[in-house]
Formats: sequence, C-alpha cells, structure tokens
Amino acid sequence: MAGKRCIISLPRSARKWLFPGLGAAVMLIFLAVWLMGRIPALPEADQRLKDAASSLPRYDVMLRLNPQAHTLAISQQLDYSNATPDTLSSLVLRTWLNAYETEESSPAATEELYDVCYYAGFSPGYLTLQEITWNGKAAAWRYLDKEKTVLEIDVDPLPPGEGGVLSLRAIAEIPACAHRTGYTENAYQLSHVLPLLSRYEEGAWRQDAYCAVGDPFVNDCANFSIRVYAPDDYLPVCSAPLERQQDGSWQGEILAAREIGLCIGKGYYQQKALHQGTLICSYARNQAGAKRALEDAKKAIETFSVLYGDYPWPSFTVCSADFPFGGMEYTAFCLASEDYYLESQADTLELIIAHEAAHQWFYALVGSDQWYQPWQDEALCEYATLRYVEKRYGQGSFNTLKFYRVDSPMQEVIPGSLTPGSPIDYFGNLTDYSVVVYGRGAALMIALNEMLPQGADDFLRAYAEKFAFSFADRQAFESFLQEYSGMDLAPLLLDYLDTIMMGENTNERVIA
Ligand SMILES: [Zn+2]
Repeated sequence: MAGKRCIISLPRSARKWLFPGLGAAVMLIFLAVWLMGRIPALPEADQRLKDAASSLPRYDVMLRLNPQAHTLAISQQLDYSNATPDTLSSLVLRTWLNAYETEESSPAATEELYDVCYYAGFSPGYLTLQEITWNGKAAAWRYLDKEKTVLEIDVDPLPPGEGGVLSLRAIAEIPACAHRTGYTENAYQLSHVLPLLSRYEEGAWRQDAYCAVGDPFVNDCANFSIRVYAPDDYLPVCSAPLERQQDGSWQGEILAAREIGLCIGKGYYQQKALHQGTLICSYARNQAGAKRALEDAKKAIETFSVLYGDYPWPSFTVCSADFPFGGMEYTAFCLASEDYYLESQADTLELIIAHEAAHQWFYALVGSDQWYQPWQDEALCEYATLRYVEKRYGQGSFNTLKFYRVDSPMQEVIPGSLTPGSPIDYFGNLTDYSVVVYGRGAALMIALNEMLPQGADDFLRAYAEKFAFSFADRQAFESFLQEYSGMDLAPLLLDYLDTIMMGENTNERVIA
C-alpha cells in the first residue's frame, strides 16, 4: 500500500508529528461534518411561493463593496415581461439613493433626524449610471424629477405579454449616514440602493416623492438572484440567505420579494435555527442580543403563522442596524435598532421584531399603498403586535400595551388636520405619524374586531390569502371587507380613518 510505504520511509522526527497530525485532520473532518449538521439548511420554497414567482420579473444582481471609497458597484439585469394591459414605450425604475444627494432632498436631513443621522456632517449619496441597455442595445434614459429618483428608460414598443432584458451598471456613492441607506462605523445599510421597477397603475408608472416621514416605497413582487463581493472582514446579510462561493463572493436567491433588504457589516454574531420549517437568522454586534432576537423572531413568525396563515418564504432574517428608527421591514428580512439589543431593552426589542415580522404579512405578502394609505400596513401591524402580546402573555399585557399604543394616541391632541387616512407627505414629524397612523389606525382594527362575528384576525387571514403576493389598495380592502362580512362598514372606516379628532375635551369631529 502506497500510504504504508510512505509512512515507513519518513524520518523518525517526521513520524513523531505525522500520527498526531493525522489524528487532528480526522478530528477536523468530524468537526466540520458535525458543524455542517448543526448549521440549519435553507428549506426549499413551497409550491405556493413557486407558483407566485412563476410569472414575475427577475433581477440578477451583482454587487461589489469598496469600503475605502464607500462605493457599491452595481451590475444588474432585469428580465421583464410586460404584464400591464398597455403597450409600453418606457420602463421606470426608482433610484431612491439620489434623494440623499442634497440636504434639500435627503430624507435624513430633516430637523428631527439631521444630527442623529449625519454623525459627521452632511454626506451626499447618489448613483452614477454607467451603462443602460435594452436587449443588448444602448437605451436612452432621463430622470423625470428634480431629485433624480424617477429614472425613465426608453424601450422598443413593448405590447402586453412581450418582454426583454434591461441591463444596468452603476456606481452607488454611499453617504455617511445612520439612516435606512448609508454607512456607519461598522456597517453599510444598503436597502433601496438597487434601481428597481416602479409600480404601474392606471396607465402610468408611479413617481412618488421620497418623503422623510413614512415609507414611500410601493413595489410589486419580483424574483431576485444576488451575488455580493465584499472584503473578507465584511459579512453581507440580506433578504436572500447568502452562501459563500469558491471565488469568495456570497450568493443567494429569493422569490416573490418586493425588494432586497441588505446590510454589509463587520463583527456580527450570528444565530440560526430551523423553526417550524423556516430558517430564522439573527445578526447583531451583541451576542446575547443576537440570541434574544432569534428567539423573538421565532415566536413572532410562529404566532403570526397561526393567526394570518403560513409564513411564505423559506427564511426570515433579523439584523441589527444603526439608525433612528425602532425597526424597518423588508421582504423576509428586517432591521432592528442596535439601541434595543441590550438586556434592559429586551421587551422593546421583542415588540419591534413582532411589528416587523407582522409586516411580512401586511406589506411583503399583501402589498398596499404605503404612500397614500400608510395605515393599511402600519395599523394592521400594530394590531397584529397587540394580538401577539395577547397570545404570548395574556389579556393583562394586551390591555397595558393597548393603553399606551392605542388608547393614549386616541386622546392626544395633534395639531393640523391629520388622520390615519392621510398620505405620508401630510406628516411633518415621526411623532405625529406614529400617533395618528399607527395608534389611531390600530383603533380601527380593534373596533373591527368587536364588529366582526369571527373577529379581525379571521378577516385579516382571509385578506392575506386573497391578496397574497399581490396588491390591495384601500378600495380593495374596503370591498373585500364588505364581501367578507356582508356588512356596510364604510361609515366605521370613515370615522376612524378620515375624521379629524379635535382634542380630548371636545366631541367635535370633522371629516377630512
Ligand atoms: Zn411598521
């Protein structure tokens, strides 16, 4: 045997090291196999998700982070088939990053956010487009708005049902900004950096402005394949669980997602678990906090799956972030503020994760008009968070939370004519937005819960099933509510969503 001859021919000193060395190698192999067995594998997408994905546009994205220059090189291909009823002569992508270019247009440069976000003074973020082609030929393009967030690209006339490939290369300059997009000491928060298709409605592409308050993003679902190159000390974390490739890049896929939530950071502790068929992942710079977030995410996905139907994607990831919000939702992914990863903030972190997990049903699964009717995802998620607390911790905890998050907002005096049914550009600050849209909006769901014989959860479950991977505007919500209940609840919705409350000591109310 060749192996035996080889060992015998070795000098005595080498033999002394060889046997322990072989032993160590065998141990390492056993350790690797054991560890692989312990790292939960990504479950396969279920048939419902595959069916939903079968007719969607597909993005193939390659990203390369350069931390020295604070840039992200983007190369993406969009395989698009015209699913609108109209012949299209152009496509519109949203280039939200350009809003960060000036202090006038940046969503982080408001009075209440500026000092918290721009930790080193104002820092511009923008996209430099290098090449855009449609079916391999250079395509004409232009920005339609002053802020350069509406990118129109000409295509050959595209009748319904026909398609093509849009390729785009760009360099994203990432701002030094602790906001949903920007970099801080340890991480690049890169959501909404990719130029994605706008939503086409009633013969036109939407061109909503990037408001500082609320979430201005209104997207339809698409399939994404993403490959990320980053220096070895950085770890990319995103909506699509990423696996390390032989060339050092990270690669992953997600079906039927409204966008890609993405962070590329240093020093993350990772926690992963397969829980009831879903791979739950947690990334944070605080090891104990990462464990708590993992458990919170498991509980939230489990609870909402029972209440509102099975969780749709194979994975759900929570990643800590440095920004002035409690949390931020993306498909199969959410950010939670690092401030709440301390043990003393464990209860708050749990509520943040519950709220963001609820968005997986009311935002990611059922899209709604976040710009004109922000209550339709935020108020539903606040109500779901209350139900989470009730299911997990009982009626007393529900009542306490309801007092702070719903009853108190109903009593507060809010200046101006704001109602939960107001569009996001009506709101001047995050506090008013939270009180009116989250708190008073959730009061509608509590009222509905009392009116509906089967309760609001049963309605929301039917709503999530009816509009899964699709879009429900307010009219669709109201029509389906009437169809589901057989009741005319329009006056109730008008009362809660469109009625200005004049203050705690008056019964005067005005329809907005
Ligand atoms: Zn929310």
